[in-house]
Amino acid sequence: MPPAPMEAEHTNHSCLLPLTPPLFADTPASLLEDFEQTRATFVNAVNSVVSNIPVEHASFENTVAPLALADASLIIGCQQTRLLEAASGNESIRTAARKVYLETLKIYEWFHGRRDVFDRVSVVYETTNDANLDEEAKRMTEKWYRAFLNEGCQLNDVERKTLQEINEDIRSNRSAFRKVLVEAQDCILLSRDQPSGLSNGVLDSLEQVTDGAQGTPMFRLGLKSSMVKTALAQIQDGNVRKAIFEASEKSVAEALPFFMAVLRARHRRAVLLGNKSWAERLLSEGMMKTPEAVQSFLTELQDKLAPLAAIELDNLKDLKERYLASSGKQDEYSKGFYIWDTPYFHEQHLKQSYQLDSHMLSEYFPVEPVLENMLAIFTEMFSISFEEVNETTARALTDNPRTLVWHPDVKLFLVWETNTQNQKTFIGYLYVDLFARTGKYSTCANFSLHPGFTDATGNPHPPATALLTNFPSPSPNKPTLLQHLNVIQMFHELGHAMHDLLSRTRHAALHGHGVPRDFIELPSHMLENWCSVPDQLASISVHYSYLSPEYAALWKHENGAESLPPRELPHHLTRQLAASQRADIALASLRQIVFAQFDMFIHGGGVHDEEEVKRWWREERERIGLVFVQEKGREPADLGHGFATTVHFIEGSAGSYYSHVLSQVYAADLFDSAFKLDPRCRETGDRYRRILLQPGGSRDPMEMLRTFLGREPSQEAFLRRIGLAM
Ligand SMILES: [Zn+2]
Repeated sequence: MPPAPMEAEHTNHSCLLPLTPPLFADTPASLLEDFEQTRATFVNAVNSVVSNIPVEHASFENTVAPLALADASLIIGCQQTRLLEAASGNESIRTAARKVYLETLKIYEWFHGRRDVFDRVSVVYETTNDANLDEEAKRMTEKWYRAFLNEGCQLNDVERKTLQEINEDIRSNRSAFRKVLVEAQDCILLSRDQPSGLSNGVLDSLEQVTDGAQGTPMFRLGLKSSMVKTALAQIQDGNVRKAIFEASEKSVAEALPFFMAVLRARHRRAVLLGNKSWAERLLSEGMMKTPEAVQSFLTELQDKLAPLAAIELDNLKDLKERYLASSGKQDEYSKGFYIWDTPYFHEQHLKQSYQLDSHMLSEYFPVEPVLENMLAIFTEMFSISFEEVNETTARALTDNPRTLVWHPDVKLFLVWETNTQNQKTFIGYLYVDLFARTGKYSTCANFSLHPGFTDATGNPHPPATALLTNFPSPSPNKPTLLQHLNVIQMFHELGHAMHDLLSRTRHAALHGHGVPRDFIELPSHMLENWCSVPDQLASISVHYSYLSPEYAALWKHENGAESLPPRELPHHLTRQLAASQRADIALASLRQIVFAQFDMFIHGGGVHDEEEVKRWWREERERIGLVFVQEKGREPADLGHGFATTVHFIEGSAGSYYSHVLSQVYAADLFDSAFKLDPRCRETGDRYRRILLQPGGSRDPMEMLRTFLGREPSQEAFLRRIGLAM
């Protein structure tokens, strides 16, 4: 349930403590009990509006506002169960959380199917312009009106029945698709010498098996995308890389029929709801508005990137030729440059041009001090501070401190804002759960836990948000050290967390991440920029040998050194690291554009059969990405279905994959136009916060961008940054 209202604006520190922070169920029974209470409250609120408010008297205040308030508890329940499912240390709680989450989705389905509620929301929607409502109230009403339309409340009974059947069709095929992907055991067997180039760590992780009657010892390489990525970047032999690429494109073949069934059902659903395509409805709420606008954005960028990508490609081809000549491995199969060559020669490019030793670099990024240094950046930019909850504070917050977090590893920070008179106001909770453990969500992510909102008596409820990462726990004599890529990921996810913490809306559904899908990645891509600025990168770093005398002694011993290395990452290395991020960037961006264009092809137009989809994947990937995906003159009969070996086009990014490209491009525009000269400028940080983070989904996202930039956003900064003069 939402916490009680906090005390605000007092100067006595102890009075400032929030009275009741979010508490996490510590048994499956208490989780189910909380859920039943939330469900009953929501159902009562809906029934009360329907029985007390005649349709013609429906207004924002008597219909949307009370329902939005009841919805806040449901959102909180939903968010917290998602977190518990992903990270609780107790398996029975994870299982119960999954169940509760699915039950919560059913409540939404029930709610959006209530035609009597829709009738009232429609009346409010149709009169928003006359009713003198502010923008947030209008957008809240519009959001719900659209949600009801999306569930077919405007359809007749026969059509609604069809819609329900289609929904079920999508649901069952999606879940079958996901199941195949999760359970897939596809692999390729490699003889002992084939994986040459793979790092020892990866090689050690491969299962060793025997093959054939002779019992030839082989390595078993799984075809999950992270392993394929690593193998293509490290294995020296081009023929082995080709075999791995082709096997991965043909893996999880059982998933393909489910993939195609989801696409067909999505199209049927769109047509039934009066749309030309599935993406049309989705996009109408976002920044781009139409599939045509997305396509023209992507094509414009693609055309501008192509000349630079061609130069990058020539450089990689050159590297390949030199490698083949020096290794004496030239044969007829190694002619040409293919998609399975790009990751390997990109790695060679990084090694030869930037001489970055990833092991040495990681010594400058011990996870906990890095986190502290990142939070210090936010402190400067946004005038906020982070106070880690210790045992005394925990006891002041609740008499059951165990329920303050979902696992003993989790750090809880109280986030305060300091105004110009040096007064502190509590603004929210940040949870940080850094280390991997059994049963925990396996990637780096931000979880919203509690949206901010204002209750019926006008009291603000503070937001709560969590950073989850999966770094290995520190060993007894060394801290956990991060790769530069992990540092960027962590900053990216903290960008989502800051969006959540700094948003201020009256309605929970519009808070923080309650923005259109194509805006949600923008604040986090924006913050990634700090990891490319040499000075900022240096300020995030600290060599682990400075953290304790024991670490210092260990480092000297391991390196046979008399003195310690510099405390911060030296200037020449921060510059090299920043520059290395631009290596082959046009090719990498074209690859993202391929995915985004493919997503528009399958979701933004008519319905396509399997052959058409495969043909697009084969031909357009070559045309847009500029790299051959098959050997010329030796084309295999079936190149496979790589698009159906990932969840991207079926789950979260379906219909909005372009937003990854869009966010990167607009983030460069925001950063270069406002932060480039002084990345920690408080005034600019404050302006950014007020215009882009604070409104959440209560303003039109494109309007927010225009207000901040004082003009239309453009691709120019991104292109200039990667060396393309305009
Ligand atoms: Zn993100």
